[in-house]
Amino acid sequence: MARSINSAKKSLGQHFLHDGNVLRKIVNAAKVDETDHILEIGPGKGHLTKKLLLKGCSVTAIELDHDLVIGPLTDIASNPKLEIVEGDARTVDLKNFIANTTQFKLVANLPYNAGTNILRSILLSDLPPQLSVVMLQKEVARNITASRGKSNILSSFFQAYYHTNFHFNVQPRSFNPQPKVMSGVISLERKESPLLPKCLHHDYFLFLTCGFAAPRKQLHNSLSQGLKISIPEVKDVSSQLGLNSELRPAALGVEEWVAVFKKFHGIKYIPKPQ
Ligand code: SAM
Repeated sequence: MARSINSAKKSLGQHFLHDGNVLRKIVNAAKVDETDHILEIGPGKGHLTKKLLLKGCSVTAIELDHDLVIGPLTDIASNPKLEIVEGDARTVDLKNFIANTTQFKLVANLPYNAGTNILRSILLSDLPPQLSVVMLQKEVARNITASRGKSNILSSFFQAYYHTNFHFNVQPRSFNPQPKVMSGVISLERKESPLLPKCLHHDYFLFLTCGFAAPRKQLHNSLSQGLKISIPEVKDVSSQLGLNSELRPAALGVEEWVAVFKKFHGIKYIPKPQ
């Protein structure tokens, strides 16, 4: 039997946002006006897309679900300011749809299951947005925007390249179907001087997964376990940096994580991706 195009696909993280107030707050957080070019990931049934178009901006919307592209999205597809692209946001080459010279913003209600990967691949692509305003699972949103004392892999990663800010929570009742968890809206603004070159982001992410291998232990234990090196080696590097290796990994700020990474990078320690 043919699948109804009205039913949400769990595997694609489909929770459609119907709350007009939340939609308005997202568009306002991105300070959208008619001069903007917006990249929207996962337009779904077009609720957020319509609010964006009302601001007079142009929108490139990438949707993976063919049923939505040939179904609900046809209502708005003829808008001359909108280009709908059927594809996977993790792998599409943005340069095919957005001119190299264009400063653009990412605005999206991201699917929970793939949200972080989508964000990572777009924000660290050759064509990164100037400003991103995205909705994610609240816990992930809190992690990305966490500061020293609550540092984690995601905060230490994204904040090397972006200023991050938590805007507001969104209740499950704002969606159809309702998710089991709360959502959070955050923004990420490109740093004029990122702490690391973009070409190192894969190595840096792997390094952080090692650094936070044992987050409840002291830094020298966690790093030595993750990097498979001796504790004295970690202590030596920490003291060269003036860092107290007895701290927990969460106590280090992003600048310190980058400094530790630079010390170890290029030596034998960074594991290769599987
Ligand atoms: N923006 C809509 C809204 O707010 O109602 C829908 C948001 S829903 C949480 C996530 C959307 O992302 C769905 O339409 C889903 O099909 C789409 N999606 C999931 N994975 C995707 C991917 N890898 N690339 C592009 N779109 C994706």
